[in-house]
Amino acid sequence: MEGKEQKFTDLFELREDLGKGAFSVVKKCIDIRTKNEYAAKIFNTKRLNTRELQKLDREARICRLLKHPSIVRLHHVFKEDVVHVTYMVFDLVTGGELFDDIVAREFYSEKDASYCIQQIVESIAYCHQMSIIHRDIKPENLLLSSKNPGAAVKLADFGLAIEVAKGEKGWYGFAGTPGYLSPEVLEKDPYCHPVDVWGCGVVLYILLAGYPPFWDDVQERMYKQIKAARYDFPSPEWDSVTSEAKQLIRGMLTLDQDARLTAEQVLKHPWIKSREKVASTMHRQETITGLKKFNARRKLKAAMHAVGLVAKKSSFFGSTPRPTSPDSTPKTSTSDLGLPLLSECETDTPEYEIILITNKLLNVIAAADFGEYCKYVADDITCFEPEAGGYRVEGLPFHKFYFNNDSSKNPVNVTFLNPKVRMLGDDAAVITYYRIVQSLNSAGGFTSTSSQETRVWQKLEGNWKCVHFHRSSN
Ligand code: ADP
Ligand code: MG
Repeated sequence: MEGKEQKFTDLFELREDLGKGAFSVVKKCIDIRTKNEYAAKIFNTKRLNTRELQKLDREARICRLLKHPSIVRLHHVFKEDVVHVTYMVFDLVTGGELFDDIVAREFYSEKDASYCIQQIVESIAYCHQMSIIHRDIKPENLLLSSKNPGAAVKLADFGLAIEVAKGEKGWYGFAGTPGYLSPEVLEKDPYCHPVDVWGCGVVLYILLAGYPPFWDDVQERMYKQIKAARYDFPSPEWDSVTSEAKQLIRGMLTLDQDARLTAEQVLKHPWIKSREKVASTMHRQETITGLKKFNARRKLKAAMHAVGLVAKKSSFFGSTPRPTSPDSTPKTSTSDLGLPLLSECETDTPEYEIILITNKLLNVIAAADFGEYCKYVADDITCFEPEAGGYRVEGLPFHKFYFNNDSSKNPVNVTFLNPKVRMLGDDAAVITYYRIVQSLNSAGGFTSTSSQETRVWQKLEGNWKCVHFHRSSN
């Protein structure tokens, strides 16, 4: 299949759709000469910006590198710049999604779940050995090689994968799918390979329960649960799960990424390694029933994305009304963290990073934590705020006064509305938003103030710092 001159369409015939993602369509295709079947992931590159094109190159580069029985194999990439289309030709896998297969089974036990997660974690252990972090472990990306019983699980979709040497923790951007994001990513802490083990932990929990460990109609509340690694094993459905399975989940869903099991350690866990002796063989009908509902909800969400009922990336910023979610998120939702609702698509954008960091700064201010505040602002920050009577204020002492003299220490709630972000190159951005602060006053009543703010962020020595802000009067 070499020969740079040859075009995809000269060599392959396209057939039916196999799936759709945020930026691509996957179609079955047939090698005209050999009649072999493949899956072509097709990208329309016309409207992609430089950054997105680089990501596409990254995906191709990573897929080329990975050769493992539990990973979909890439054969060839055709970049047809004239027509603005890129084709990535993969081995065709015909078993569909793993989760769709499980719900169609007559019999399903812990032992089956153990076998599934073993293959998934084997593929992840291999990625980690090859210095790759997948960052998007979730059911949609777990396929089965064929429809035969016992078919191999194949990890797909390296669209968010990155090349990072083992142990090289860093902030590589906010990426993943909401329910599977790790606490460290949500906290915007430096992260590394353990994010994949967390994602596998979420998948394993679902494989055993039929529902996810972290869930709330309001996404930000779900994020709170994740950040605290707050989940449980409710009765009665978990009563029949072996303690070894629960112990393994605890090891994978460990809050502290350094204490979390590594992929290699997961593979050595008795529930995996000595499956025959340790994992239960009791049929789990309730799990199948739960999984059916879980799958239906996921598909509905995906379908709504496809027809645009759920806002896509481009409308995250500054669009009101908020995107609605099929999980009955209130339309007026201005959740306690006030983050714009995310849809299940790429969140790895600099704009989203600015929204997150602004949100974090506002919460630090609400918590009156001056030490934390200093981490987010430049020493020579300038501002115009009503408190200074319209004069420009420079430096931190002016702000410190407020933090030190905030005698109220009453709980406050910040709501952050309608953010609009404009990137000024890679290292600077402006964000404007509406901020509402509710607080209890000493008389026991509450007050609510609102203002419009503009903040200028600049990346200084690798960290985003607020260098200027401007607040309207209340
Ligand atoms: P995206 O990055 O856009 O999410 P994926 O690589 O996950 O794209 O592919 C989207 C969907 O296409 C998958 O969820 C799956 O259903 C289907 N798909 C992907 N690769 C293959 C393949 N090699 N064989 C069969 N179907 C595939
Ligand atoms: Mg995908």
